[in-house]
Amino acid sequence: MLNNVMNKDGIYICPECGSKRITEVSQNALIKMINVNTGKLINPITGNYMSNRDKAREYDNASSDGIGCWYYECRRCGWKSELLTG
Ligand SMILES: [Zn+2]
Repeated sequence: MLNNVMNKDGIYICPECGSKRITEVSQNALIKMINVNTGKLINPITGNYMSNRDKAREYDNASSDGIGCWYYECRRCGWKSELLTG
């Protein structure tokens, strides 16, 4: 049994069923600054409380660099790769 996703011409394919419905699941680093008395998130750049837009941006910018832990899973048959490290 293959334990890693196949890459065919730049397209990720499930090694079990051949489906292209592959999800990458990764752990990402996110630095939080919280006012301990209010529990509210603080924007590290402006020092103000984080807006929902600020939170969305932080989420989108979070990367797995330095953590390097991810796996692939197939949304069709449920196959999962082994945990990969970068
Ligand atoms: Zn599959």
